[in-house]
Amino acid sequence: MEGKIIDGKAVAQRIKERIKAGVDELSREKGITPGLTVILVGEDPASQIYVRNKEKACQEVGIRSRVMRMAAETSQEELLRVIEDLNQDKAVHGILVQLPLPKHIDEKQIINAIHPGKDVDGFHPVNVGKMMIGEPCLEPCTPKGILRLLDETGIDLAGKRAVVIGRSNIVGKPVSLMLLKRDATVTVCHSKTQNLKEITREADILVVAMGRPESIDGSYIKEGAVVIDVGTTRVDQRLKGDVVFEEAIKKASWITPVPGGVGPMTIAMLLENTLTAARNHG
Ligand code: NAP
Repeated sequence: MEGKIIDGKAVAQRIKERIKAGVDELSREKGITPGLTVILVGEDPASQIYVRNKEKACQEVGIRSRVMRMAAETSQEELLRVIEDLNQDKAVHGILVQLPLPKHIDEKQIINAIHPGKDVDGFHPVNVGKMMIGEPCLEPCTPKGILRLLDETGIDLAGKRAVVIGRSNIVGKPVSLMLLKRDATVTVCHSKTQNLKEITREADILVVAMGRPESIDGSYIKEGAVVIDVGTTRVDQRLKGDVVFEEAIKKASWITPVPGGVGPMTIAMLLENTLTAARNHG
């Protein structure tokens, strides 16, 4: 029997409706309209699309959004000055610097300059550290969205064998921590992992975040596993996941599609973090 599809688009839509209600309430009761400023440096075409999508999503839920488009040759000092101004601006509750930045700018320094309370991407070391020790913080959007998708299945994660392929700071590592916090038994795999297939075939929950299109076929998947495909790679104008969907769905109990799985959740979580930041510091 084929697995069920976890419809990220539908889940994200429901979450956005709740966020809209939260935004309206904050505005009615405290006179605060959550505000997100997105900084885009340069003209990377993919980044331009991401930024436009974020702007559109903000409008849908009533978050005041502003995109600051800066020239590719903007200096690091100038960008740091802009961030400092936004840190001080009471109408700005969330600051997001669209990555990647041009080569001459040190991403780490830029992320570190954002006030942790306004770091709606959840990339600042203070938020990362708080997440590590289980304190409330702004959590990174993609892993947070993945956990919400897992919750949609109704499966209790406690005691389940979870395998994460990928150990990046934005997906693999944080999602592993979040699964651990939910009492899963977590294994993290990466490019140096030996016998990957042996490990993934034991996974009740398999999260794939490699950025290698269609490299996990049905033979990597345990019968009845939940498969979350984080990968998004543009191949011949189409978005491809890391998982061979047609094969995996025959083994999995639940699976996310690409597109329409993790992607919409990332944006929904960004909106949620902006609302949280406004509630905390409005
Ligand atoms: P990344 O920084 O390139 O990390 C990829 C990870 O996969 C690395 O840890 C790498 O191992 C591991 N890896 C690569 N090849 C492997 C192999 N053959 N076997 C096992 N592990 C392997 O990528 P990322 O930023 O985490 O993103 C991963 C994917 O998710 C990308 O396709 C990205 O576009 C997508 N993504 C989607 C969203 C969304 O909202 N839908 C958000 C973020 C990312 P090493 O550490 O050893 O190099």
